[in-house]
Amino acid sequence: MQPALEVLSRGQSSSEPNGDRSIWDLVWKAKVPHKMRVFAWKVATSTLAVCENVHRRIVSVDAMCPICGVEGEDDHHALVRCTIARALRDELRKSWKLPSEENFYHTGREWLFHLLANTSTVGRALVIFLLWRVWHHRNDIIHGDGKASVAASAPYLINYLNSFHATSTNTFDPKGKAPMHHVQATPECWEETAWIVPKEGELKANVDAGWDPLTKKIGIAAIVRDHGGQVVVAAWNSVEGCFSPEEAEIHAGLLGLRLLISTSKGLGTLESDCHRLVITCQEESLDRSAHWALYSEIKEFLRVYNQISVCKADSRNNRPAHALSQLGKAGSSGISWGSPPSCVSDLVDRDCMNIV
Ligand SMILES: [Zn+2]
Repeated sequence: MQPALEVLSRGQSSSEPNGDRSIWDLVWKAKVPHKMRVFAWKVATSTLAVCENVHRRIVSVDAMCPICGVEGEDDHHALVRCTIARALRDELRKSWKLPSEENFYHTGREWLFHLLANTSTVGRALVIFLLWRVWHHRNDIIHGDGKASVAASAPYLINYLNSFHATSTNTFDPKGKAPMHHVQATPECWEETAWIVPKEGELKANVDAGWDPLTKKIGIAAIVRDHGGQVVVAAWNSVEGCFSPEEAEIHAGLLGLRLLISTSKGLGTLESDCHRLVITCQEESLDRSAHWALYSEIKEFLRVYNQISVCKADSRNNRPAHALSQLGKAGSSGISWGSPPSCVSDLVDRDCMNIV
């Protein structure tokens, strides 16, 4: 092992991590896009597909690092010690105040926990952005064409982080010289976004509908998420022969309820931005409008699954469902389990930024 690698491998963190923090909180509450949290969680749980992990399952796969060939490729080697990891970290240090090199030392299997626990909220986000991009480079070299440039990755990450955090109401200073105003102006429409997570152990379904008065076509959508903001299932659909926006919203509500019931063990919240739908679901009395049959169906579900509540969403807090309903209105339909469809992943990430 080269001396420099040895130091990084054997060094110890100078301060003990805050015992109140859990790796779960450090990862899932990090101010980074959802896909990066998923990546960090794989590192934290030693399930990233590095050669040593793959070798354990498939003996014919070499455990040695295929990039530098110096040692076995575990997650710390791939993301911290390997040549490509060092190069990107060095490059980013010119712009970001990353934790010191000592904090990147290998402190055992929980090295990521120590690294994240010993830095600030801002530092945690920077570290996860960095490691996520290192993993991209590693895969590009091993499985892609190897053309991704480290020099180009630094400005890419800086822009990505700035645009992601431009929507946050918190001051976020990657140079570590707070207070600092946002690099980009915060779009007014995002400022008040505050999707509220469901309670731990419960799920929330956000629903929405789009109605075309000319064709009478509607698009309906529902997106079910857990208390970490993770998408359990998202579905969108196109329905014909619908005669009012309210009818469209009820169809969306029914879609959301069915998904919620099938995924939540009957504990959760249905959230719609249709005032009339919410009020009618909350009322005891029988609805006598033209939509009584559809409302009766919803109320029957709510009677059986009486631990599901119905709440009003502000339309600003219902953006992923709204965007998917527009897909449905355009004639598309689909279902996505475990992750959002890529077209709304940014909207889902923005909602996650408010999870504290
Ligand atoms: Zn290597």
